[in-house]
Amino acid sequence: MLNTVKGVKDVFDSDLELFRFIENTFVKISQKFGYSEIRTPIIEYTELFKRGIGETTDIVEKEMFTMADSKGRTISLRPENTAGVVRAYIEHGLFNNAGLSKFFYIGPMFRRERPQAGRLRQFHQIGCEVFGANSAMLDAEVIIYAAQLLENLKIASANFEIQISSVGCENCRPQYNKKLVDYLTAEKNKLCETCNIRIYKNPLRVLDCKEERCQSVIVAAPKIIENLCDDCNIFFEELQGFLKIANIDYQINKRLVRGLDYYTGTVFEFVCKEGLGAQNTILAGGRYNNLVKQLGGPHTPAVGWAAGIERLILALTNNKSDIKNIENPVKKIFIVIDKTIKKQGFEIFCNLRNNGIDINCDYECKSFKSQFRLANKLKYRYVLILGEEEAKNENIKLKDFDCGCETIIKLSELTTKLKNL
Ligand SMILES: [Zn+2]
Ligand SMILES: [Zn+2]
Repeated sequence: MLNTVKGVKDVFDSDLELFRFIENTFVKISQKFGYSEIRTPIIEYTELFKRGIGETTDIVEKEMFTMADSKGRTISLRPENTAGVVRAYIEHGLFNNAGLSKFFYIGPMFRRERPQAGRLRQFHQIGCEVFGANSAMLDAEVIIYAAQLLENLKIASANFEIQISSVGCENCRPQYNKKLVDYLTAEKNKLCETCNIRIYKNPLRVLDCKEERCQSVIVAAPKIIENLCDDCNIFFEELQGFLKIANIDYQINKRLVRGLDYYTGTVFEFVCKEGLGAQNTILAGGRYNNLVKQLGGPHTPAVGWAAGIERLILALTNNKSDIKNIENPVKKIFIVIDKTIKKQGFEIFCNLRNNGIDINCDYECKSFKSQFRLANKLKYRYVLILGEEEAKNENIKLKDFDCGCETIIKLSELTTKLKNL
């Protein structure tokens, strides 16, 4: 007996309906906001993630599935999608197009983490990346887009909080880094082993260390948001102004530092107030003005966010029954066919399907009793019955299980009648 690999999952039935609901809703909102879809491969050269995400991040240091290809280069399963989309943007010269490039994506990501509740090694993300404008108005719109998505997923705004901050730019970050390193160096005895290395390799990463012993040092550490240059301050003020105009409630979280190196300026997280335990961030993103250049393209400001589908599902668990109704407005029909006239039955079956009716049957034309039992088990409300008698008279019987009533319908009028149910 072979099972799934550790930390991955099969998705089907009602779980898959929730996936589809989230994906379909996301596609609709994305089109409304002028985004087009991009699908990049799930494998990329490891180098891309090292340069794109940062060599000293946990993701790249410990969490990637990496293998050698036949030429001795290493390739990795994508642990996130921004690096891949940026690579595609550069590779296809999309910066030559006029105006913004606005992409959305849906797909699996892979991280070799310790599997635990709500955390899988293959998980699924929806997200967006916008290239070509350095503007607080755009950052506000990207946040509004995310908020509208959650609203359309029926995740009430009372259940999550939008936290925003700024992580500064190449003008103010170096000064802040120096300040942070000085502070951390003075407190180094209180920090964990990993953080002692991080101080010199990547001091910002100390701020999202989860170790208990590091927390008091982190809380009292200098905050980047209090050390921004004038440009960054103006930009952050502007962003808040736009969010207010759009009636978006937000909180400034001074301790918000995203776990990836590429962010510049605006960062944000949508945080669930309850129900998700320690992993309570359901959507997160920010601006990354230097990444396109860093990966070999021309200087191109950019902003984006991503959300985990599995976590969104946890957040909307309470609304599952509503979702079924939203997602299945189609009338589904089951047809019961007498074995002696299965050719005629099959013809009707095919015609109905060609005319847009969602129809099913048992394919074996077993006894009527057995076919009815199956229709019941599959929860069909409407059942068509084609017996010898009906077939002879060019009729078919329709049974509505909800009211128990039966009607005889002329075959010539069948499609119209079914569509009007
Ligand atoms: Zn700055
Ligand atoms: Zn630590």
